[in-house]
Amino acid sequence: MTKGRNLWVRNIRPLGGEITDILILDGEIAETCTDVPETTEVLNGAGAIALPGLINAHCHLDKTRWGLPWEPHAAGPTRDERIAADREMRRGLMASTKERAAALAGHCAALGTSHIRTHVDVEPEFGLLAIEALLELSDEIADRVSIELVAFPQFGLVTNPGTAALMEAAIKLGASLLGGIDPSSIDHDRAGQLDAIFDMAERTGAGIDIHLHETAEEGAASLDMICAHTKALGMAGRVTVSHGFCLGTVDEKRLAGLINAMADAGVGVVSYAPGDSPVPPVKRLVEAGVAVGVGTDGIRDAWTPYGNGDMLERAMMLAYRSGFRRDEDIELALNAVIAGGAALMGLENHGLAPGCAGDMVLVNAETLADAVTARPSRKAVIKGGVNLMAASCL
Ligand SMILES: [Zn+2]
Repeated sequence: MTKGRNLWVRNIRPLGGEITDILILDGEIAETCTDVPETTEVLNGAGAIALPGLINAHCHLDKTRWGLPWEPHAAGPTRDERIAADREMRRGLMASTKERAAALAGHCAALGTSHIRTHVDVEPEFGLLAIEALLELSDEIADRVSIELVAFPQFGLVTNPGTAALMEAAIKLGASLLGGIDPSSIDHDRAGQLDAIFDMAERTGAGIDIHLHETAEEGAASLDMICAHTKALGMAGRVTVSHGFCLGTVDEKRLAGLINAMADAGVGVVSYAPGDSPVPPVKRLVEAGVAVGVGTDGIRDAWTPYGNGDMLERAMMLAYRSGFRRDEDIELALNAVIAGGAALMGLENHGLAPGCAGDMVLVNAETLADAVTARPSRKAVIKGGVNLMAASCL
């Protein structure tokens, strides 16, 4: 049994329930607390709520300026202007990708994020530099936060020759998923981009996560095609649409059809609860059986000055943007940060049940809704049975 990965977490309220203890043995939650090894460290939760590790299902660790001096936002208001500003900024910062990503990932871990899915730019000008930096970081920081990589064609796929080959090479190196972006409005070739991504997925066995900012019918047509390809290849549960702004901008009849198609094909969605763009109807999606996760998207980068990596805050933003007021609705937003993210990332051992990984966050709050709305400071953050705060490794 690995020393230091046994932890007896006492006097906690799992997901706001009755007070109890949870024993973590060798990094995994034990069936009972009846057989506690003598050397086990004890952590007294003193009535705190215990949450499973929080999941950031959509981030851009390679783009962040976290840890660098503040820089005023310089990009224009359109998506294309932000992409151009991003490219310009990255030219000066590519060498420090690992350092910047490490600063942000460590900060997220300290706030209780146990898993991050990060999209990582892949394109001919930068090659696989960012992928290599993030793969190294993923290994080095795995005892604090688990990082999963998406090979992301930020600057286009069909219109940016050489990108597809680099994406496939990124999967061979260790990235888990293939990304995509606005196949109609970026590449102006919906079928071309989506065919290329799904063909690569079939060859490599990688999952898929596609940025879809396209709104209204343009986005709906792309989503239809993503669902059809997912179903045709039997990729249920392994395809995610990020943002899905179109789900908040089509009429009722079209929306109902899209939700049915997503549920039928097994396509999930991640929202970051943007301040100035449509948010998908998350309650309706969850009720239809669609996996809904939550991400931060970029944090303090060329796209946005906002973000602090706190997934409790992001749950609050999703609830707030969705107009949620009742406890059960606010809990739904929190659940998207936990079970929803776990479903999208295929984490079968995530949670507080016996056999799950010993990842846990303790917060002082009365209820789950209180924890989301107040976003209290973290009382303890546990990863694989190690209390990261006590270990002073954050
Ligand atoms: Zn993104």
